[in-house]
Amino acid sequence: MEREGSQIPLRYIQATSLSDFRANDYNMSMILRSNHSVPFLVPNSSVEGVGIVVTTRAGGVSSGSYSSLNLGLHTGDDSTVVLENRHRLARAVGFSPDRAVWLQQIHGDSIAVVSESDAGRGGQSYVDGLPGTDGAITGTRGIVLTVLIADCATIVLVDRARNAIAIAHAGWRGTLSRLSTKLLNAMIETFGSQPREVSAFISPAIGPCCLDVRRVVAEEFSSQWGEDAHRHLTSDLSNRPRLNLWSSNAALLHAGGVTEIEVADLCTKCNSELFFSHRGQGGKAGRFVTQVFLT
Ligand SMILES: [Zn+2]
Repeated sequence: MEREGSQIPLRYIQATSLSDFRANDYNMSMILRSNHSVPFLVPNSSVEGVGIVVTTRAGGVSSGSYSSLNLGLHTGDDSTVVLENRHRLARAVGFSPDRAVWLQQIHGDSIAVVSESDAGRGGQSYVDGLPGTDGAITGTRGIVLTVLIADCATIVLVDRARNAIAIAHAGWRGTLSRLSTKLLNAMIETFGSQPREVSAFISPAIGPCCLDVRRVVAEEFSSQWGEDAHRHLTSDLSNRPRLNLWSSNAALLHAGGVTEIEVADLCTKCNSELFFSHRGQGGKAGRFVTQVFLT
């Protein structure tokens, strides 16, 4: 893959060999890096002073459905093994494990303002994570905002002018409740962000090729989004509606005034060797993460 180890200057990462990971198997819309034998993906565009990382399934010690870099403590996997995986992640990306902040995600729309006192929350145990939270924002340098995913999309916002970052976990429920819009509004209210100075990144997720939704869900989208709904809803051969998490969340952000939006059009279900997929694995899957932090 020609983009491996390319020009993006991430000072805290030293790319090493990819001997354990066959990157050439994938035509990726992100840049692949690796450190301490843990591969991870970074967006094509970067903002000075901000790190954004998406992990894959590779580089960990979990087995079976969780093989191998399962980072979710609530998945049924051995917690000792998951904590080792989290340790490997931190070493690879270059942060101390006690700087990451983990959320107890519930497919809701609550957004937490994270400060220094939250550093490390949820890192050692699920119940210590920020409760009932699917979005987080911070202006604190070195805090690593973390979202666990296995089909849902991660929305990342970076205020290029104010050293502020945001992250959210949006499946169809979060998208329907306009969590991306709420995340942007939280940046505006908390940091005085100007949408034109905000860059957005939307992570790998289950794609419009694979995300069947129930007809009642599609009808709810149609009633809320009006004529725009057809841009984000298609039908499969059996006329079952399919939702595009990438375009719908990008549209929400664009409507809010954000013009720099990068979408990683990598489907988790179609790339099940690369990512955990809740639907692709019949509900028994590990979790990969998206992380954002101010360096
Ligand atoms: Zn797919």
